[in-house]
Amino acid sequence: MIGRGRKYGKSRFSKEMAAGGRWVPMRQLVAGNWKMNGLGADLAELALLKAGIAGAAYPCDILVCPPATLLARAAAVAGGVFALGGQDCHAEPCGAFTGEVSAEMLKDAGGGAVILGHSERRQYFSETNAIVAGKVRAAWRAGLMAIVCVGETLAQRDAGEARAICHSQIESSLPPGANSANTAMAYEPIWAIGTGVTPTAGDIVAMHLHIRRCLIDQLGAAGKDILILYGGSVKPGNAGEMLPLPEVGGALVGGASLKAKEFLAIIAACR
Ligand code: PEP
Repeated sequence: MIGRGRKYGKSRFSKEMAAGGRWVPMRQLVAGNWKMNGLGADLAELALLKAGIAGAAYPCDILVCPPATLLARAAAVAGGVFALGGQDCHAEPCGAFTGEVSAEMLKDAGGGAVILGHSERRQYFSETNAIVAGKVRAAWRAGLMAIVCVGETLAQRDAGEARAICHSQIESSLPPGANSANTAMAYEPIWAIGTGVTPTAGDIVAMHLHIRRCLIDQLGAAGKDILILYGGSVKPGNAGEMLPLPEVGGALVGGASLKAKEFLAIIAACR
């Protein structure tokens, strides 16, 4: 079990979950994306995070996705108090793909989840929905939870295309078989990532409700329980407003996950 507070539901990273169990209600998930940040010395932040979690009963699951180079050492520091994950993986389990990391390797290094289809991967590494779908299948094959990111650019939002963009990303990035045990979604409006600008509470709820409808249309009953995280400039100062919103199943946090003090303050805002 990750974290504490069983009365709110069980951890999705538990052994029971890995064996195919299904838990209702699902606890919120607060996931940190360190991006290409972090050297060995920064593991001290994870030790502080562990100390902060160990002293409190947080009603949510906690995941940190450091660079792959730190994953095994981070898992040793976490000691099972919080979960670790990757930020990307290759679709194949092994082979001649110089520089790549497979889902099986992330699992072997102590990972329980992997972020896939982040807008930075889509933008800078030309990841298409089809590529993301292949990586989601790889994550499931390795026994990792896939955290699948969708979200629109500012131009798309201004053109009234936000819903259609997210719909097509979900439709084409999420293979059949997705459920709450193997997948979480992250709604990350690209214009909110790293900018300090966030959507209004009303806009977040509207988009999360839309994503929920897309998931149910596509997956049937399995789409009802899949967590939908919000991501984009989540900070200690706004988490208390965002995390209690309907259909907000947690947060995907970039910059504010690098410092234990800020990340703990966001975790403390879970409902
Ligand atoms: C992210 O990279 O997924 C993210 C949400 O970043 P930030 O919190 O820094 O906006």
